[in-house]
Formats: sequence, structure tokens, C-alpha cells
Amino acid sequence: MIHSINPYTGEKIYSFTPLSTKEISEKIDEADLVQKEWKKTSFRERAKLMTKAAEVLKKRKKAYGEVISKEMGKPITQAIAEVEKCAWVCEYYAENAASFLKDEFIETDAQKSYVSYNSLGVVLAVMPWNYPFWQVFRFAAPALMAGNAGVLKHASSVMKSANNIQEVFEEAGFPKGLFQNLVIGSDKVESVIKNKKIKAVTLTGSKPAGSAVAGVAAQEIKKAVLELGGNNAFIVLDDADLEKAVDVGVNARYQNTGQSCIAAKRLLLQEDIAEAYLEKYVEKVKKLKSGNPLEGDTYIGVLAREGLAKDIEKQVNDSVKMGAKLLLGGERKGAYYAPTIITDVTDEMPVFKEETFGPVIAVKTFKTFEEAIEISNNSEFGLGVSIFSKNINKVLENVSKFEEGAVFINELVKSDPRLPFGGIKTSGFGRELSSFGIKEFVNIKTVYVK
Ligand code: NAP
Repeated sequence: MIHSINPYTGEKIYSFTPLSTKEISEKIDEADLVQKEWKKTSFRERAKLMTKAAEVLKKRKKAYGEVISKEMGKPITQAIAEVEKCAWVCEYYAENAASFLKDEFIETDAQKSYVSYNSLGVVLAVMPWNYPFWQVFRFAAPALMAGNAGVLKHASSVMKSANNIQEVFEEAGFPKGLFQNLVIGSDKVESVIKNKKIKAVTLTGSKPAGSAVAGVAAQEIKKAVLELGGNNAFIVLDDADLEKAVDVGVNARYQNTGQSCIAAKRLLLQEDIAEAYLEKYVEKVKKLKSGNPLEGDTYIGVLAREGLAKDIEKQVNDSVKMGAKLLLGGERKGAYYAPTIITDVTDEMPVFKEETFGPVIAVKTFKTFEEAIEISNNSEFGLGVSIFSKNINKVLENVSKFEEGAVFINELVKSDPRLPFGGIKTSGFGRELSSFGIKEFVNIKTVYVK
């Protein structure tokens, strides 16, 4: 059985019977069959249904948000905002898919030559629990609009949310079978990728999972997109608007109780302003309200599982043993880990070197912007970086030096349907969202007429 356990109460709340091998293959057959008709539909028809999906999401945002909160401990206000954001991505692709995928004419020696974007077929999405709706919708909205079908292997801890997502597409009127949740554990993923009717795979999750999935996809010569971990730096230069940099900086680390791939995990402060900045930062973090995820004013919930809180605890304790100083927090109670700030951090400490997937920030100071860039790049990950400075031109001149998928100036790194999202190095490959995302799962076909 696959269970959802409320990490706040420890209660088992939902149980699911995993699909048998036969049932898995029947579901993929169904998706393949339905996709063959779906790909013939017009963008207008698809857009009508995708707009309906947005309406269903808005109508049910409270109910779906509550399930998210219960399954993985996200504070309810943030869970509802997540569902609303999914409605946005559906509306965005309903409006823009046709123009992103229209034929592109290119002048050559031919009478006529152009690029035509065709659907691929059934795409497998392997997804994590941290944004149980958003991670799935940012794949599904463009993939379905491009004429593909989707099968979902969601994190085992959020299967009720996974079923709710299937419900959204069914209630919106999409053909039955076009988007299906597969109730399976990760041990079944390899055989699903190897199924001849699966044409591509996308995974959002950890490096080991990404490596396993992309490895099988490579053996099968199937397209893969990977959105993996991150260890983003949040750089504050001495000419920054400190108030703003504190407000944004606290959100950048602590929203979603720190369980975000693009969270600011390493706080890099220019020496002259480090003390003043930290003083304000600590005050603000102290005011974050921890509590029951289902209460509207809770900002810090619990981690998605007690084991994850223990992992964070170990990273912090090991770093302290190596000489780091705890400025705030450092306590765990069950799946709750208190908002934590650590200074005197060196490159070799777990809180700097590894991704911390919880409410912990590692602080380091630097003398020059060049040095900050070097520290920021000293990471196996390359998802994104935030830089706060009033001298925007100076930062812009240095953008190419950052080994990252995204550089945000005077803002936290965030995903926006209109902008490409993804990383380099061990943060993965490929892009989601915007026109780039919808072109990951299409056949870019060259047409030439002599
Ligand atoms: P995870 O353990 O990698 O799980 C992600 C998904 O992969 C789950 O559905 C999981 O299924 C499945 N999975 C795990 N091991 C697998 C394997 N060997 N073969 C096939 N599938 C496998 O990650 P997580 O703990 O849920 O999420 C946290 C990680 O995701 C962090 O590293 C975070 O940075 C990253 N993340 C990245 C992004 C991004 O956009 N770049 C966004 C969010 C999160 P089970 O649940 O059944 O094990």
C-alpha cells in the first residue's frame, strides 16, 4: 500500500493500492490511444479545455490546498496560492500555445522551408512532493497543449493530490485517459520508461532520482528533462536597499518551510553591511509564525516527513561540530525544524556544500563582488542566484560569470510561466515554462519543398 501521512499530526490519512503491472500497461495503452485522437484537435479546442481546468482549480483551491497541507505540511495560505498559480499556468498556455507552436518559415534555397512542431505522444512525469500541484501543472499545461498525453508518477507521499490533479483535467472535459495518475512506487519507474508507448520523461526531484531516470531514458534513447536540486546564493552588496533585501531574503529562504529547489540557501553578505543586515534579518526571522499548517496565519509549517527534519538536523549539527555558529534556531521537534541561521560557515561544511531542504540559512561574508561570484559558483548546483544592489548596470555586466540557469536582480529567484525555468551543472538540463518549455516535448520537424 502507498500511504499519505500528515507530518504535523503523524496520522495516516489516505491509503492507496498500487497498480499491478497489467494495470500500468493498460493505462499507458489507453493514454496512447487517446493521444492519437487528441493530437488532431485544434489549439482552440485544447485552449477551451485548459481554460476550464483553470476554472476548476480556482473553484476548488481551498479543498485542494487543504489536502496539500495535510499531505506534506505546507501552510494553508501558501498551499492555496500554489493552486492559484496552477490556474495561471493553464491560462497562460491556453492563450499562448498556438503562437509558440505555429509553423516557422525560414528562407533557404527551397521554394518553401519551415519548421513544424508536432506532438511526441505519451510523456511520463516523475514529480516531487514539495509543490505537489505546481510541479505537475507546469509540465502538464504545456505538454497537453502541445498535443501530448501525460502519465504521472507522483511522490508516494502525495497520492491524494495526484488523484486530485487527474480530477481537474477530467472535470475540465479533457478526454478520459489523456492525463492519468499512476499509483506506483519508484521501483516501477524503470519499466514505465521502457514501455514502447512512453516517448519521453521529465523528472523534478533529487540528483539520485534524476540520474536513475535519465540513465534508463538514455538506454532507451528517449528524451529526458531534469529539474533537480539547487543551492542558490543570495548576494547582498553594500549599496543594496537593505530593508528590501531583508524582506525578500527572508521569504526567499523560508517560504514553503524552506523546501524549495530555488530557495536562497547561502546568504552572502558584503563585509561592510553584514552586521546591519543580519541584525534586521534575525529580527524578521524571529517573527515568522510557526504552527499548525491548517491555520491561516502560519508561515512555517512542518517538513514533509520527520526523516527530512532529521536530515536537516544532522547537516546543522555536523556543521556546528566543524566550527559553525548557531545564530538562531537549531531545534527539532518531530517533523518541525525551527527557522535557523548559521554563521562562520566554511566551504566544506554540509550547510554550505550540500543542499539544505528546510528552514536553514548558511551565512558567509565577502570583500568584493568578484569574490561573491566565486563563492556563488563554488557549488555542484547551478539553478539560480539573487543579487541585491542599486548598481544594476554593474551587476548586469557580470551576469555571464554566474554558472546558473537564472540570475535575478533585486528579487528572489522564482518561477513565472512567462520565463524559462531550469538549471545547469547537477541542477539538471532542459527548461520548463515559457516558449522554451513547450518545445521540450515536441518533434521539431523540418519541412522542405524544392
Ligand atoms: P526524490 O526523492 O528525488 O523524489 C522525486 C520523485 O522521484 C518522486 O516521485 C520519487 O518517488 C521518485 N523517485 C525517487 N527515486 C527514484 C528512482 N531511483 N527512480 C525513479 N524514481 C524515483 O525527491 P524529493 O525528496 O521528493 O524532492 C526533493 C528534491 O527535489 C530536492 O533535491 C529538490 O531540490 C528537488 N526539486 C527540484 C526542483 C526543480 O525544479 N529544479 C523543484 C522541486 C524540487 P517516491 O516518492 O515514490 O520515492
